[in-house]
Amino acid sequence: MVRDVTVGRDFVVIAGPCAVESEEQAFAAARAVRDAGARMLRGGEFKPRTSPHCFQGLEEEGLAILREAGRLTGLPVVTEIMDTRHLEIVCECADVLQVGSRNMQNFALLKELAQAGRPVLLKRGMNATIEEWLGAADYLLTGGNPDVILCERGIRTFETYTRNTLDLSAIAAVRELSDLPIIIDPSHGTGRASMVAPMSLAAVAAGADGLMIEVHPDPPNALCDGDQQLTPAAFTDLASDVHAMVGFMRAPQGASGGPTPTTRS
Ligand code: PEP
Ligand code: MN
Repeated sequence: MVRDVTVGRDFVVIAGPCAVESEEQAFAAARAVRDAGARMLRGGEFKPRTSPHCFQGLEEEGLAILREAGRLTGLPVVTEIMDTRHLEIVCECADVLQVGSRNMQNFALLKELAQAGRPVLLKRGMNATIEEWLGAADYLLTGGNPDVILCERGIRTFETYTRNTLDLSAIAAVRELSDLPIIIDPSHGTGRASMVAPMSLAAVAAGADGLMIEVHPDPPNALCDGDQQLTPAAFTDLASDVHAMVGFMRAPQGASGGPTPTTRS
């Protein structure tokens, strides 16, 4: 579905920086995540920031950097598109188009992406029910794009310790309601680097088809989302645990421990 990766059959780890900040930063992150076993590279150039005074992304310059980082590492590239006017330039870089949480119900964007000829990673709106999320996915499917990957990234609740409340029950719910693959973003889901590893492993145990994880060569100096980005070393450790856990979950029934009945095989 995306070069040699079939999301839904292969477990896919997508990793990379929140935002592309420079060639040096993006290339370092890309090499680190590739070496640790990530299957796709992420990075944002059009950033949906709460304040207009915050870093907005490198836009077109960032797209060129991300494309080169993908070429150097051989990793397919995932990046967010916020505006239909950017479709052509984003498609020159991206193997997978990401619709962010804030645009999940941007129906004009969804209708355009239904015809874009690229897989779409559809993040759950932070205030969206699962039914609304699947409705948004249906715009893509009925509009002509069969390649939709759902991404749970946390929802708004009364809890403030975490940035969002990561709804891992969405994995089981989507399994009951849809055939679409679902991946988990524990970075935005928690907002805390320290919680990314436990939530990643929990997502694998619950039967997720993949993970999207933010990785930055120098998180304390990141231009956005520094608190939730993993260092390359932390990501390398986590990726190794994730791959071990995926192996366990997908082992044939009866093999040491065996899988749960809810996972795809
Ligand atoms: C992102 O993945 O870069 C992002 C902005 O995430 P979300 O849309 O989930 O907030
Ligand atoms: Mn981010």
